Amino acid sequence: MTPTPLNDLLGPVLRDLARRSGHDLNRWLEQVDRLGGCREPMRLTGHTETVDTRTGQIIATYDTKGEPHGHLLLRCGNRRASRCPSCAEVYRRDTFHLIRAGLLGGDKGVPETVSTHPRVLATLTAPSFGPVHRGPGKDGKTVVCHPRRTGPSCHRWHKADDPRIGQAIDSGTYDYTGHVLWNAHAGDLWRRFAIYLRRHLAAAAGLTRAVFNDTARVSFAKVAEYQARGLVHFHAVMRLDGRSPGGLAAPPGWASVDLLDGAIRSAALAVSLDVPGLGEPLLWGRQVDVSPIAAGAITERAVAGYVAKYATKSAETSGTLDRPVKAHDIAQLYAQGVPDHTARLIRTAWRLGNHLVHPEYAHLRLRQWAHMLGFRGHFSTKSRLYSTTLTELRQARADFRIRFTRDPATTLVLGSWTYAGQGFTEGERALVAGLTAKEVGR
Ligand SMILES: [Zn+2]
Ligand SMILES: [Zn+2]
Repeated sequence: MTPTPLNDLLGPVLRDLARRSGHDLNRWLEQVDRLGGCREPMRLTGHTETVDTRTGQIIATYDTKGEPHGHLLLRCGNRRASRCPSCAEVYRRDTFHLIRAGLLGGDKGVPETVSTHPRVLATLTAPSFGPVHRGPGKDGKTVVCHPRRTGPSCHRWHKADDPRIGQAIDSGTYDYTGHVLWNAHAGDLWRRFAIYLRRHLAAAAGLTRAVFNDTARVSFAKVAEYQARGLVHFHAVMRLDGRSPGGLAAPPGWASVDLLDGAIRSAALAVSLDVPGLGEPLLWGRQVDVSPIAAGAITERAVAGYVAKYATKSAETSGTLDRPVKAHDIAQLYAQGVPDHTARLIRTAWRLGNHLVHPEYAHLRLRQWAHMLGFRGHFSTKSRLYSTTLTELRQARADFRIRFTRDPATTLVLGSWTYAGQGFTEGERALVAGLTAKEVGR
């Protein structure tokens, strides 16, 4: 880290230190310690009363008035590593456990037998909206970008860190409207795919849809990832389960990895969505990747790690803004360091998001989601029976904290909280940076 000039630090630090002495400073250090490295903590004001439910007596009171600055600091819980590396790391670990539990069971209420069900990792991508500069392949080897005799071409070999990767080769002919509308419908395309998948599985097994729905179920967990070209794609862990009144059951005899693999491919290729203003329906990319998850193939651990890593990324890889776009941003995108291709996508979303000119797209709320290049879906979702949920994991952690201090069976905490802002003050930030530097040096 480059040292900040002393004068810039000293003013706010001294102001903050003067406010904190003795008890105050210790309490602040305690709070910072509990934040575990969160960069943008939430600041709350409020109070609680802990009541003994057997006697109705108030046995403890707490008020943030007694805290430094009158605020309680809590972890921000942001999923994105660009916003808060520490909270994103917690999210990544939680996602890892959630995915692994769904593959191996034996944990968080999922039976161990799930590891014998047919399981695959499927990647569904977007189609092309025009040629973009290409980086090294999956093996890390650089390739000739886009050699063509006619139409847009590029004969360079782009290294992995080349900022041109993902940018349109010819922005004059690139279909920005189709691109933004595809992102805006990615969630709808997924829902259709899930419906078709059940139909194609039923057909492949020789069952009616009704019999299939009574006896089998596809459980999944998926994450959305932005490609460098600014299109979203989905990685999904999919598992074929049997259905029983109690929930999960062993898969029916006909269930196999091959059958699941074939049905995923045919269902993805069958999806087609008509959107007003587009000459062609929206489709999935023609290349569908399906890999069986099993010992000897991709292992459960590798899959869980892979999916969890994507869960903490967002659209930043395409160089977009990491907050909603405002009207005054539109003219300043280049000045804010947004690459040309991404800036064109943001401006396209903004233009199509004008409800007066494009009432047909009003429900897509394209202005609100312009910084996401049109995508307004969730980054990670799972079907109900795949495994535990992040909420359950967080609840377990919170329960632990409560149990750690009081007996929840005989006490009740009544409280009132108000959001008072986010992040450290300038002085606090400098102090925290100093503390962290010391920890690293130890
Ligand atoms: Zn945080
Ligand atoms: Zn190129």
